Amino acid sequence: MISMEDILAFSETTHDAKKPLTFDSYQVKAALTAIYPLTTAVLYPALGLAGEAGEVANKVKKIIRDGAFDRAGIAAEMGDCLWYLALLARDLNLDLSDIARENLNKLERRKAEGKLKGSGDDR
Ligand SMILES: [Mg+2]
Repeated sequence: MISMEDILAFSETTHDAKKPLTFDSYQVKAALTAIYPLTTAVLYPALGLAGEAGEVANKVKKIIRDGAFDRAGIAAEMGDCLWYLALLARDLNLDLSDIARENLNKLERRKAEGKLKGSGDDR
């Protein structure tokens, strides 16, 4: 789990574009810009994530409506999603890297079992 020491260590430096940015280092740095009250933990980032996912969908919708493909705009909204996801994970005391790893494990297991098609959480 990310500790206050981790946060302080990252807060003293800006990200070096030449260094790999891990899920966990992103999560720590994202937390530095989280200013919502503790009383809204989980709720605030969950609602924000839903809102930003809508912004992604809206930009993609405009490909149909306008025929314009705003790749950079979609990427920016995806980044907003990532920020909220990172903070939601933090509020739930979860590391983003663990979530990513578990998701890959689940998908690999489903693929091996021939269950990538279909729906449901516990296939
Ligand atoms: Mg946005």
